Parts: sequence; C-alpha cells; structure tokens
Amino acid sequence: MSLNILVVDDSAVVRTMIVKTLRMAGVPIGEVHQAANGAEGLDAIDNNWIDLVFADLNMPVMNGEEMIEKIRANPDWQDLPIIVVSTEGSQTRIERLQQRGAKFIHKPFAPETVREVVKEITGICHEQQV
Ligand SMILES: [Mg+2]
Repeated sequence: MSLNILVVDDSAVVRTMIVKTLRMAGVPIGEVHQAANGAEGLDAIDNNWIDLVFADLNMPVMNGEEMIEKIRANPDWQDLPIIVVSTEGSQTRIERLQQRGAKFIHKPFAPETVREVVKEITGICHEQQV
C-alpha cells in the first residue's frame, strides 16, 4: 500500500524537501501532488484521492489554518490525516490546529521527526532502505 500525498507550501524548495525526506525515510509514496496555497490545496483534494496532507501555515491567497478549517468542515474530509509543517511558535495556534486533528512539525525539521509523525498518523512507514 502506498500513500497519495499532497504537499501545500508556498515555497517550492520546501515542497521538494518534504517529498525528498519522505522518500529517504522509506515512506511508501504513490502520487505526489503539490499546491502553493490553501486554495490550490483544496482544489487538489477535491480532484484527487489524497491519503495524507502536509500543510504550511503562512501562505498567500489562503493560509494553512483556513484551508484546514475548510477541510474539516467537509464531512468527506473529516478524518483526512494532516501534518502541519511550520515555523509557527504560538502554542495557542498550534493547540488550535491539534484540536482539528492536525499533527504539528516545526520547520526546520529532522527527517526522523517526519518519519515518526507519518508513522503515528498513518500507521505505515517502511524502514529506511540503505
Ligand atoms: Mg510559507
């Protein structure tokens, strides 16, 4: 089984880094979709089967928090696993996101952290292949 992932971040460099980290961590990846803001992210979820979302918070057009609110407001997407990857420092904001069922990873992130959180949230993550 592999995961179709969606990476939402306004930085193409960060999006690439997240995908690369997942591959290095041995996460079984199916399709990879990318979006540069929350609105594009919602479109991607609407038009594709997505198993796991990585979401930045600070983005133009629609930020990550608003996107997550809209995802959770749709009954079809209430259990969609979401991992927020952000430099966000406000504990209040982080807790608010966690209440919506999102996991949180601080930027910059260590590959092992990403691996652990993916494992926790999806229950799958293969051992690293060397
Ligand atoms: Mg950003």
